[in-house]
Amino acid sequence: MDRYSCIENKNQREIVLLKGFPCVWGKCSFCDYIDDNSTLEDEMNKLNFEVLDNISGKYKVLEVINSGSCFELPKATLEKIRQIVIEKDIKKLFLESHWCYRNRIKEMRDYFGIPIVFKIGVESFDYDFRNIFLNKNAKFKTVEELKEHFDSPCMMVGIKGQTKEIIDRDMEIIQNDFEHATVNVFVNNTTELKRDEKLVKWFEEKYSFLDDNPKIEVLHNNTDFGVGD
Ligand code: SF4
Repeated sequence: MDRYSCIENKNQREIVLLKGFPCVWGKCSFCDYIDDNSTLEDEMNKLNFEVLDNISGKYKVLEVINSGSCFELPKATLEKIRQIVIEKDIKKLFLESHWCYRNRIKEMRDYFGIPIVFKIGVESFDYDFRNIFLNKNAKFKTVEELKEHFDSPCMMVGIKGQTKEIIDRDMEIIQNDFEHATVNVFVNNTTELKRDEKLVKWFEEKYSFLDDNPKIEVLHNNTDFGVGD
């Protein structure tokens, strides 16, 4: 599995995929990447340190992801990231967290002391699609409520059961209400959810212009950031 990469086209940055403790929620219906979670702290730190050693600081921007929330990274790994931020003069971090840690976001911002683009797996702004169909357990009601804590929503498109109307509204919100967002086109995995090829084709045609929007990063494949497998 690739765990270090550089994102070259938009918002240039280095990115690392680290290992964390089990996702606090772990029950989203579309997710099988929690298989990368671990409870072996020493092994996780060893691997994470090796991955983090790749960071050169060439863009002064770093994204750290794990299959869960940054709050599930081992303490020693977080400390190592903080050290790298100082040593490599990193000016901006991208981190990700589940909604349930919303009251600890500031704690993480204070810990690193540099601007952080906090991402969150929103998947959709349609409350029922998000919380019932995708079982996301992110029960915010409004965009404003989300923005009190987070900067950048990660969206999901192309799942059987999703509608064009849901996607249209989601795309409108991310373009109008956020400075940064990610759109993941669903790729079949080991879960029972299925990709809707017709819906994906419709999305890729209708929203191809998003590829030119510097604020929005569309991942047509889940390895488009160069990490994962
Ligand atoms: S919160 Fe993220 S890592 Fe956890 S189960 Fe849901 S999608 Fe997977």
